[in-house]
Amino acid sequence: MSERIILHIDMDAFFASVEQQSRPALRGKPIAVIGSGKRTVITTSSYEARARGVRTGMNIFEGRTVCPELILVVGNNRKYADTSRGIVEILQDYTPLVEVYSIDEAFLDLTGSIRLFGSPEGIARRIKERIRKRFGIRCSIGIAPNKLLAKLSAGLEKPDGLVRLRPEEVPSLMERLPVTQLCGIGKRLGEHLAALGIRTCGELGCFPMADLCRRFGMVGETLSVMARGIDLSPVVPLCEEPAPKSIGHSTTLSRDISDKEILHRTLLQLSERVARRARRNHLCGRTVTLTLRYADFSTFSKRVRLAHFLHHGPEIYLAAREILSSLRLYQAVRLIGVTLSGLTRDYLQLPLFAEERKREEISRAMDAVNDRYGMFTVTWGTLLKRSKGPGVISPAWRPAGSHYVNVR
Ligand SMILES: [Mg+2]
Repeated sequence: MSERIILHIDMDAFFASVEQQSRPALRGKPIAVIGSGKRTVITTSSYEARARGVRTGMNIFEGRTVCPELILVVGNNRKYADTSRGIVEILQDYTPLVEVYSIDEAFLDLTGSIRLFGSPEGIARRIKERIRKRFGIRCSIGIAPNKLLAKLSAGLEKPDGLVRLRPEEVPSLMERLPVTQLCGIGKRLGEHLAALGIRTCGELGCFPMADLCRRFGMVGETLSVMARGIDLSPVVPLCEEPAPKSIGHSTTLSRDISDKEILHRTLLQLSERVARRARRNHLCGRTVTLTLRYADFSTFSKRVRLAHFLHHGPEIYLAAREILSSLRLYQAVRLIGVTLSGLTRDYLQLPLFAEERKREEISRAMDAVNDRYGMFTVTWGTLLKRSKGPGVISPAWRPAGSHYVNVR
């Protein structure tokens, strides 16, 4: 197999950067994004806060102790999901093979893109520039022959990094690299390996695989392979099928109606049906269209584009009702309809996908080892993780792929 070119992109301090961008008063300040619950912890902090010792996972008291001037911001999931969606749109300009790995990380398989778009570094620089211009935030990018190494490379020069790891550089890098820097090996497993005299990937790669398997079960083999910088897993695109263009419902009224109250009630029911279908298919949209057919069969339609993607009945209803309120009905209405368009995958609702389930099993195997040794604090990130309660999505959260939908 010829060499693959995989790009990993990781947004720098994503939630905090989005907040600083949308509220200029927060720029250059130590801020921490928290959930809305009483016992919330810090999800992400700005680099200004990190420089003062603020860390993800600290509670508010701990954060304020190390940094008294810390500004706390309650996170807004919708804002982050919207930004994430916009970033994925940019990434998809360079290849259809974009795997959304978490809300602020993605893998791209650029192997087939080079002929069209030029060098991988050039593509990476353009991506960074476009994201900075459109969203005002920065990212770090790693380019390598596989996902494991691309993710590793992206983490080498944060923030605002761009690292290309060439195949010939892999052995010397792995030789010296601490095992704990590999995605999937947490601190506790690191300690366990250290007890066996294994500190670097070089040492892990040389350790007899049979011994590793005896100690760690099937994960032993994975560890050994990872330590040598090998990862054959493909980039699995988020959307295997494009989202449909629109979802709409309309109804012919039992008699011609001029009473706006009755039209509103009908509109609410139609909006609920549109919303339910959108949610069932894991879609949301940002354009709402109201269609009216008058008693003389002339048809009118007007659309409104909203600031956010949505999929809730009341929101769709409010947008449609506003259009209706702005109209002077010159005749009674015989048909009324609502359509949601400008659809995209709903990044907060995506289900696990068959392909992902397979990988989830591997994660589960890793988790089993984890439970036993208290390690692998990070899995391979294939699980859909969302913080419980009304908090902020954890940065480890990922929309784990999509499934096929048919919407007519
Ligand atoms: Mg990040």
